[in-house]
Amino acid sequence: MDPGPIQFYRRFVTLPKNPIQSFQVPQHYTVDFEQGRVKLPKIGEITTVFHRVFTGKMKYATVAVTSTGKWFISILVDDGKPEPAPVPFALDTTLGIDVGLADFATLSTGEKIENSRYLQNSLQRLKVLQRRVSRKKKGSKNRQKAILRLARCHEKVANQRNDFLHNLSFRVVSENQAIAVESLNVAGMQKNYKLARSISDVSWSTFFAMLEYKCRKYGKTLLKIGQFDPSSKICSTCGYLKQDLALADREWVCPDCGTTHDRDINAAINIKKFALQEQNLVGVSGAERTVEPVDSLPMGRRMKQETPPFRAG
Ligand SMILES: [Zn+2]
Repeated sequence: MDPGPIQFYRRFVTLPKNPIQSFQVPQHYTVDFEQGRVKLPKIGEITTVFHRVFTGKMKYATVAVTSTGKWFISILVDDGKPEPAPVPFALDTTLGIDVGLADFATLSTGEKIENSRYLQNSLQRLKVLQRRVSRKKKGSKNRQKAILRLARCHEKVANQRNDFLHNLSFRVVSENQAIAVESLNVAGMQKNYKLARSISDVSWSTFFAMLEYKCRKYGKTLLKIGQFDPSSKICSTCGYLKQDLALADREWVCPDCGTTHDRDINAAINIKKFALQEQNLVGVSGAERTVEPVDSLPMGRRMKQETPPFRAG
């Protein structure tokens, strides 16, 4: 967008403390695709580059500016189309996902999704840029320039991370009919601030939010199990509960059936199993049924009485 006419709103928008500042325009704005313009009340016409054309009833618009001075407008449109009905799912069309620190995610298929490396590199760069800002005199032009360079780097990291998360969530949603995840207490985890850095970097909650809306959009089902199920400690083959499994044990052998487990793959398989048990889609015996889902998003709903516990001990 051409920043000129928007100067009017500068006084509402202080740069650059928060990475993105925004305001909403609830109504009385118009969009002209041919001329490439958006007309906002009180501001007037703004030259705009549209990334696509849309039809439908325009709801509110959000005008946002990033800390590097890029302006965006996003428009909520009601296209009148109902959400697709969720498709049926079964054991072989459901994917379990375990998220962790060693890898970003481990899938019940055995595939491991690494944490993106560029993030580590960018963190180094951020540290350098941050130091440069703090060395410059407060209020100086050079400090302003250094702040802008830092903001650009932050923006790049955020874009890379979102790109990674969008690609991954789109892929798993298109390849499966249902996805099972373990609900996370991210806020509680972040109190432990040694972990906090890595947790915010890998952005599980953003990933889960993307899974949720993409499932809804494409008629898939997101199953969430509670975080109390010991998904790492139970043998996914025979159900043995290994009480003394330590966080450092990346691999373990089941003393009962002798299966060698990769900790995260085993957890991902269990998450899928627990979620399907809650849906009554699979018994402990592994007997499988296909059922039309009644509720497309059973959010962490517990049905304890229908979940026969694994053999413990
Ligand atoms: Zn076992």
